Amino acid sequence: MSKFSSFVLLLILLNTSIGTAFSHSKDNEYHFTVKSGDSLSKYFSKLGLSNRLLANLLSASKQNQQLNQLNIGEKITIRLHTNRHFKSLSHKPHNKKSLEVVLLGTRFTNKSNINQTESRPLSTTTVVIDNSFGYDAQRAGLSLNTINTVVEALSWRLDFNSDLHKGDRFFIISDGSKQPVGIVYKGGNKRIEAFSYAGSHNQSLYYDRYGYTLNSSFLRAPLKYKRISSKFQLKRYHPILKTYRPHRAVDYAATHGTPVHSTADGVVTLKDWKGALGKAIIIKHGAHYTTVYAHLSKYSPSLRKGKEVKKGQVIGYVGSTGRSTGAHLHYELRYKGTRKNPLSHKLPIQKKISRAELWKFRSQVNKVLASL
Ligand SMILES: [Zn+2]
Repeated sequence: MSKFSSFVLLLILLNTSIGTAFSHSKDNEYHFTVKSGDSLSKYFSKLGLSNRLLANLLSASKQNQQLNQLNIGEKITIRLHTNRHFKSLSHKPHNKKSLEVVLLGTRFTNKSNINQTESRPLSTTTVVIDNSFGYDAQRAGLSLNTINTVVEALSWRLDFNSDLHKGDRFFIISDGSKQPVGIVYKGGNKRIEAFSYAGSHNQSLYYDRYGYTLNSSFLRAPLKYKRISSKFQLKRYHPILKTYRPHRAVDYAATHGTPVHSTADGVVTLKDWKGALGKAIIIKHGAHYTTVYAHLSKYSPSLRKGKEVKKGQVIGYVGSTGRSTGAHLHYELRYKGTRKNPLSHKLPIQKKISRAELWKFRSQVNKVLASL
Protein backbone atom coordinates (compact mmCIF):
# COMPACT_ATOMS: atom_id res chain seq x y z
CA MET A 1 0.00 0.00 0.00
CA SER A 2 1.39 3.43 -0.89
CA LYS A 3 1.98 6.05 1.73
CA PHE A 4 -0.85 8.11 0.31
CA SER A 5 -3.47 5.36 0.34
CA SER A 6 -2.57 4.33 3.90
CA PHE A 7 -3.02 7.96 4.87
CA VAL A 8 -6.48 8.00 3.27
CA LEU A 9 -7.36 4.77 5.04
CA LEU A 10 -6.24 6.27 8.33
CA LEU A 11 -8.48 9.27 7.70
CA ILE A 12 -11.43 6.99 6.98
CA LEU A 13 -10.77 5.05 10.16
CA LEU A 14 -10.52 8.24 12.18
CA ASN A 15 -13.68 9.62 10.65
CA THR A 16 -15.69 6.53 11.36
CA SER A 17 -14.38 6.34 14.91
CA ILE A 18 -15.54 9.87 15.69
CA GLY A 19 -19.07 8.61 15.77
CA THR A 20 -18.23 6.42 18.76
CA ALA A 21 -15.82 8.81 20.40
CA PHE A 22 -17.80 9.22 23.55
CA SER A 23 -19.31 6.96 26.11
CA HIS A 24 -22.22 7.65 28.33
CA SER A 25 -21.45 6.11 31.72
CA LYS A 26 -23.73 7.47 34.38
CA ASP A 27 -26.90 9.37 33.69
CA ASN A 28 -26.04 12.78 32.24
CA GLU A 29 -22.28 12.20 32.33
CA TYR A 30 -20.50 12.00 28.98
CA HIS A 31 -16.90 10.87 28.52
CA PHE A 32 -14.93 11.78 25.44
CA THR A 33 -11.46 10.66 24.43
CA VAL A 34 -9.97 13.21 22.06
CA LYS A 35 -9.44 11.92 18.53
CA SER A 36 -7.82 13.61 15.57
CA GLY A 37 -9.86 16.58 14.37
CA ASP A 38 -11.94 16.75 17.52
CA SER A 39 -12.81 20.01 19.20
CA LEU A 40 -14.95 21.03 22.10
CA SER A 41 -17.54 22.53 19.78
CA LYS A 42 -18.03 19.10 18.23
CA TYR A 43 -18.78 17.62 21.67
CA PHE A 44 -21.02 20.52 22.56
CA SER A 45 -23.13 20.16 19.42
CA LYS A 46 -23.33 16.40 19.98
CA LEU A 47 -24.91 17.11 23.36
CA GLY A 48 -27.14 19.89 22.04
CA LEU A 49 -25.22 22.65 23.82
CA SER A 50 -24.91 26.03 22.13
CA ASN A 51 -21.81 27.66 20.68
CA ARG A 52 -22.60 30.72 22.72
CA LEU A 53 -22.33 28.72 25.93
CA LEU A 54 -19.00 27.38 24.73
CA ALA A 55 -17.73 30.88 23.93
CA ASN A 56 -18.73 32.03 27.43
CA LEU A 57 -16.97 29.07 28.98
CA LEU A 58 -13.75 29.67 27.03
CA SER A 59 -13.63 33.35 27.91
CA ALA A 60 -14.50 32.84 31.59
CA SER A 61 -10.86 32.41 32.63
CA LYS A 62 -7.40 32.25 31.15
CA GLN A 63 -7.07 28.64 32.22
CA ASN A 64 -10.07 27.64 30.17
CA GLN A 65 -8.21 28.57 27.02
CA GLN A 66 -6.33 25.27 27.27
CA LEU A 67 -9.60 23.81 25.96
CA ASN A 68 -8.92 25.43 22.60
CA GLN A 69 -6.12 22.96 22.04
CA LEU A 70 -7.09 19.41 22.79
CA ASN A 71 -4.52 16.71 22.23
CA ILE A 72 -5.25 13.23 21.02
CA GLY A 73 -5.95 10.80 23.85
CA GLU A 74 -6.94 13.41 26.43
CA LYS A 75 -10.16 12.89 28.38
CA ILE A 76 -13.07 15.30 28.53
CA THR A 77 -16.07 14.72 30.74
CA ILE A 78 -19.21 16.82 30.39
CA ARG A 79 -21.99 16.58 32.94
CA LEU A 80 -25.51 17.80 32.30
CA HIS A 81 -28.44 18.49 34.57
CA THR A 82 -31.54 16.30 34.14
CA ASN A 83 -33.05 19.06 31.99
CA ARG A 84 -30.02 18.63 29.65
CA HIS A 85 -28.54 21.97 30.68
CA PHE A 86 -24.79 22.23 31.18
CA LYS A 87 -23.52 21.39 34.68
CA SER A 88 -19.74 20.95 34.51
CA LEU A 89 -16.81 20.00 32.35
CA SER A 90 -13.50 18.42 33.24
CA HIS A 91 -10.39 18.12 31.13
CA LYS A 92 -7.40 15.93 31.92
CA PRO A 93 -4.55 17.10 29.69
CA HIS A 94 -1.27 15.21 29.37
CA ASN A 95 1.18 17.75 30.72
CA LYS A 96 -0.90 20.42 32.37
CA LYS A 97 -3.10 20.79 35.41
CA SER A 98 -6.48 19.15 35.28
CA LEU A 99 -9.30 21.56 34.82
CA GLU A 100 -12.81 21.45 36.15
CA VAL A 101 -15.28 24.14 35.19
CA VAL A 102 -18.64 24.35 36.89
CA LEU A 103 -21.54 26.51 35.82
CA LEU A 104 -23.10 28.14 38.87
CA GLY A 105 -26.11 30.19 37.85
CA THR A 106 -24.76 32.09 34.87
CA ARG A 107 -21.11 32.09 35.96
CA PHE A 108 -18.39 29.60 35.14
CA THR A 109 -16.12 28.79 38.08
CA ASN A 110 -12.89 26.85 38.02
CA LYS A 111 -12.48 24.18 40.61
CA SER A 112 -9.05 23.01 39.47
CA ASN A 113 -7.07 25.01 42.00
CA ILE A 114 -8.89 23.61 44.97
CA ASN A 115 -8.78 20.08 43.64
CA GLN A 116 -5.05 20.31 43.00
CA THR A 117 -4.10 20.99 46.60
CA GLU A 118 -6.83 18.88 48.08
CA SER A 119 -5.85 15.80 46.20
CA ARG A 120 -2.11 15.94 46.81
CA PRO A 121 -0.55 15.12 50.18
CA LEU A 122 1.68 17.83 51.62
CA SER A 123 5.20 17.30 52.86
CA THR A 124 7.39 19.67 54.86
CA THR A 125 11.14 20.20 54.64
CA THR A 126 12.66 21.95 57.66
CA VAL A 127 15.78 24.06 57.28
CA VAL A 128 17.55 24.95 60.53
CA ILE A 129 20.02 27.83 60.20
CA ASP A 130 23.53 26.85 61.18
CA ASN A 131 25.64 28.40 58.44
CA SER A 132 23.69 30.39 55.82
CA PHE A 133 20.26 29.86 54.32
CA GLY A 134 21.63 28.72 50.94
CA TYR A 135 24.06 26.25 52.49
CA ASP A 136 21.67 24.84 55.08
CA ALA A 137 18.79 24.59 52.59
CA GLN A 138 20.89 22.57 50.16
CA ARG A 139 21.93 20.27 52.99
CA ALA A 140 18.26 19.81 53.83
CA GLY A 141 17.74 18.64 50.25
CA LEU A 142 16.10 21.68 48.63
CA SER A 143 16.81 22.35 44.96
CA LEU A 144 18.48 25.60 43.88
CA ASN A 145 15.22 26.53 42.21
CA THR A 146 13.28 26.18 45.45
CA ILE A 147 15.98 28.04 47.38
CA ASN A 148 15.68 30.97 44.96
CA THR A 149 11.89 30.88 45.21
CA VAL A 150 12.07 31.08 49.01
CA VAL A 151 14.54 33.98 48.94
CA GLU A 152 12.46 35.89 46.39
CA ALA A 153 9.24 35.28 48.27
CA LEU A 154 10.49 36.34 51.72
CA SER A 155 13.06 39.02 50.86
CA TRP A 156 10.53 41.81 51.26
CA ARG A 157 10.14 40.89 54.91
CA LEU A 158 13.50 39.33 55.73
CA ASP A 159 17.13 40.22 55.03
CA PHE A 160 18.82 36.88 54.39
CA ASN A 161 22.25 38.43 55.07
CA SER A 162 21.69 40.23 58.34
CA ASP A 163 18.46 38.91 59.88
CA LEU A 164 19.24 35.23 60.25
CA HIS A 165 20.58 33.64 63.42
CA LYS A 166 21.65 30.13 64.35
CA GLY A 167 18.63 28.01 65.17
CA ASP A 168 16.15 30.01 63.04
CA ARG A 169 13.87 27.66 61.15
CA PHE A 170 12.27 27.60 57.73
CA PHE A 171 9.43 25.24 56.87
CA ILE A 172 9.02 24.59 53.17
CA ILE A 173 5.69 22.91 52.44
CA SER A 174 5.34 21.12 49.13
CA ASP A 175 2.55 19.29 47.34
CA GLY A 176 5.00 17.73 44.90
CA SER A 177 4.65 20.45 42.26
CA LYS A 178 7.56 22.69 41.26
CA GLN A 179 6.93 25.54 43.69
CA PRO A 180 6.38 25.25 47.44
CA VAL A 181 2.73 25.81 48.39
CA GLY A 182 3.77 27.39 51.68
CA ILE A 183 6.87 28.90 53.29
CA VAL A 184 7.07 29.70 56.99
CA TYR A 185 10.01 31.35 58.73
CA LYS A 186 10.37 31.32 62.52
CA GLY A 187 13.23 33.13 64.17
CA GLY A 188 13.67 35.17 67.32
CA ASN A 189 10.29 36.80 67.77
CA LYS A 190 9.54 36.99 64.09
CA ARG A 191 7.32 34.79 61.97
CA ILE A 192 6.81 35.24 58.26
CA GLU A 193 4.38 33.22 56.17
CA ALA A 194 3.95 32.98 52.43
CA PHE A 195 1.33 30.94 50.61
CA SER A 196 1.32 30.24 46.91
CA TYR A 197 -1.94 30.90 45.13
CA ALA A 198 -2.69 30.91 41.43
CA GLY A 199 -6.33 31.99 41.40
CA SER A 200 -8.30 32.54 38.24
CA HIS A 201 -5.67 34.81 36.67
CA ASN A 202 -3.41 31.74 36.82
CA GLN A 203 -0.24 33.57 37.81
CA SER A 204 1.15 31.96 40.92
CA LEU A 205 2.23 34.51 43.55
CA TYR A 206 3.02 34.37 47.27
CA TYR A 207 0.58 35.96 49.70
CA ASP A 208 0.42 36.44 53.45
CA ARG A 209 -2.47 34.75 55.28
CA TYR A 210 -4.65 37.82 54.73
CA GLY A 211 -4.33 37.54 50.98
CA TYR A 212 -1.80 40.31 50.27
CA THR A 213 1.39 39.72 48.28
CA LEU A 214 4.49 40.08 50.43
CA ASN A 215 5.97 42.86 48.36
CA SER A 216 5.07 46.45 49.08
CA SER A 217 4.08 49.06 46.53
CA PHE A 218 6.28 52.16 46.16
CA LEU A 219 5.46 55.75 46.96
CA ARG A 220 5.69 58.02 43.97
CA ALA A 221 8.19 60.33 45.73
CA PRO A 222 10.08 60.12 49.03
CA LEU A 223 9.12 63.62 50.22
CA LYS A 224 6.95 66.71 49.75
CA TYR A 225 9.09 68.67 47.31
CA LYS A 226 8.97 72.08 45.69
CA ARG A 227 10.19 70.99 42.29
CA ILE A 228 12.37 68.45 40.54
CA SER A 229 15.70 70.22 40.16
CA SER A 230 17.38 67.50 38.14
CA LYS A 231 15.86 64.56 36.32
CA PHE A 232 17.33 61.20 35.42
CA GLN A 233 19.58 61.97 32.47
CA LEU A 234 22.64 60.54 30.85
CA LYS A 235 24.37 63.95 30.28
CA ARG A 236 24.06 66.68 32.83
CA TYR A 237 26.32 69.70 33.36
CA HIS A 238 27.58 69.43 36.90
CA PRO A 239 27.72 72.88 38.58
CA ILE A 240 30.53 71.94 40.96
CA LEU A 241 32.62 69.63 38.80
CA LYS A 242 31.93 71.76 35.67
CA THR A 243 31.75 68.70 33.43
CA TYR A 244 29.02 66.67 31.80
CA ARG A 245 28.25 63.49 33.68
CA PRO A 246 25.30 61.15 33.86
CA HIS A 247 22.75 61.79 36.60
CA ARG A 248 21.03 58.48 37.21
CA ALA A 249 18.79 59.80 39.95
CA VAL A 250 16.15 62.42 40.62
CA ASP A 251 16.94 65.56 42.62
CA TYR A 252 14.05 67.05 44.56
CA ALA A 253 14.48 70.67 45.68
CA ALA A 254 12.96 71.05 49.15
CA THR A 255 13.32 73.16 52.27
CA HIS A 256 16.15 72.20 54.61
CA GLY A 257 14.74 69.82 57.24
CA THR A 258 11.84 68.44 55.14
CA PRO A 259 11.13 64.85 56.28
CA VAL A 260 12.24 62.10 53.89
CA HIS A 261 10.19 58.87 53.74
CA SER A 262 11.17 55.37 52.73
CA THR A 263 9.37 54.77 49.43
CA ALA A 264 8.58 51.12 50.27
CA ASP A 265 8.92 48.49 52.99
CA GLY A 266 12.51 47.36 53.31
CA VAL A 267 15.64 46.89 55.36
CA VAL A 268 18.27 49.59 56.00
CA THR A 269 21.59 48.47 54.55
CA LEU A 270 23.49 51.75 54.91
CA LYS A 271 23.18 54.75 57.21
CA ASP A 272 26.45 56.59 56.87
CA TRP A 273 28.45 59.33 55.18
CA LYS A 274 29.09 58.19 51.62
CA GLY A 275 31.56 60.48 49.78
CA ALA A 276 29.84 62.91 47.41
CA LEU A 277 26.43 61.72 48.59
CA GLY A 278 27.08 63.10 52.08
CA LYS A 279 24.82 61.72 54.76
CA ALA A 280 23.10 58.85 52.97
CA ILE A 281 20.66 56.00 53.54
CA ILE A 282 20.34 52.89 51.41
CA ILE A 283 17.30 50.64 51.77
CA LYS A 284 16.87 47.19 50.26
CA HIS A 285 13.35 46.27 49.15
CA GLY A 286 12.89 42.58 48.41
CA ALA A 287 15.45 40.65 46.41
CA HIS A 288 15.88 43.12 43.54
CA TYR A 289 15.26 46.74 44.53
CA THR A 290 17.27 49.29 46.51
CA THR A 291 16.69 53.01 47.04
CA VAL A 292 19.27 55.66 47.94
CA TYR A 293 18.57 58.92 49.79
CA ALA A 294 21.46 61.43 49.84
CA HIS A 295 22.68 64.86 51.05
CA LEU A 296 20.57 64.51 54.24
CA SER A 297 21.00 66.98 57.09
CA LYS A 298 20.29 64.29 59.68
CA TYR A 299 18.88 60.79 60.17
CA SER A 300 15.73 59.82 61.95
CA PRO A 301 16.91 58.90 65.48
CA SER A 302 15.18 55.50 65.44
CA LEU A 303 16.80 54.42 62.16
CA ARG A 304 19.24 51.50 62.49
CA LYS A 305 21.29 49.65 59.95
CA GLY A 306 19.89 46.13 59.48
CA LYS A 307 16.45 47.10 60.77
CA GLU A 308 13.19 47.10 58.91
CA VAL A 309 11.45 50.24 57.73
CA LYS A 310 7.89 50.59 56.56
CA LYS A 311 6.73 52.36 53.43
CA GLY A 312 6.18 56.04 54.32
CA GLN A 313 8.27 55.89 57.50
CA VAL A 314 10.40 59.02 58.11
CA ILE A 315 14.05 58.02 57.75
CA GLY A 316 15.85 61.39 57.64
CA TYR A 317 15.66 65.07 56.75
CA VAL A 318 16.63 67.10 53.68
CA GLY A 319 19.99 68.82 53.80
CA SER A 320 22.96 69.70 51.63
CA THR A 321 25.74 67.45 52.90
CA GLY A 322 28.36 66.02 50.52
CA ARG A 323 28.76 67.42 47.01
CA SER A 324 25.68 69.63 46.86
CA THR A 325 24.96 73.27 46.02
CA GLY A 326 21.73 73.66 47.99
CA ALA A 327 19.13 71.84 50.02
CA HIS A 328 17.77 68.94 48.00
CA LEU A 329 17.23 65.20 48.13
CA HIS A 330 19.13 63.02 45.69
CA TYR A 331 17.04 59.87 45.21
CA GLU A 332 18.10 56.74 43.36
CA LEU A 333 16.21 53.61 42.46
CA ARG A 334 18.24 50.52 41.66
CA TYR A 335 16.88 47.36 40.14
CA LYS A 336 19.21 44.34 40.20
CA GLY A 337 22.06 46.75 40.87
CA THR A 338 21.34 49.07 37.91
CA ARG A 339 20.12 52.63 38.47
CA LYS A 340 16.68 53.16 36.93
CA ASN A 341 14.64 56.28 36.38
CA PRO A 342 12.41 56.53 39.48
CA LEU A 343 9.89 58.61 37.53
CA SER A 344 9.30 56.07 34.78
CA HIS A 345 10.45 52.63 35.94
CA LYS A 346 7.54 50.22 36.27
CA LEU A 347 7.52 49.36 39.96
CA PRO A 348 6.01 46.28 41.59
CA ILE A 349 2.64 46.76 43.19
CA GLN A 350 1.15 44.91 46.10
CA LYS A 351 -1.61 42.60 44.94
CA LYS A 352 -4.57 41.34 46.84
CA ILE A 353 -6.73 38.27 46.40
CA SER A 354 -10.21 39.24 45.28
CA ARG A 355 -13.02 38.92 47.77
CA ALA A 356 -14.68 36.28 45.60
CA GLU A 357 -11.63 34.03 45.85
CA LEU A 358 -10.68 34.71 49.44
CA TRP A 359 -12.55 31.72 50.89
CA LYS A 360 -10.80 29.42 48.47
CA PHE A 361 -7.45 30.92 49.41
CA ARG A 362 -8.21 30.70 53.12
CA SER A 363 -9.09 27.02 52.95
CA GLN A 364 -5.81 26.41 51.17
CA VAL A 365 -3.91 28.37 53.85
CA ASN A 366 -5.60 26.40 56.64
CA LYS A 367 -4.64 23.15 55.00
CA VAL A 368 -1.00 24.21 54.64
CA LEU A 369 -0.81 25.42 58.25
CA ALA A 370 -2.48 22.25 59.51
CA SER A 371 0.23 20.17 57.85
CA LEU A 372 3.01 21.81 59.90
ZN1 LIG B 1 21.41 64.14 42.36
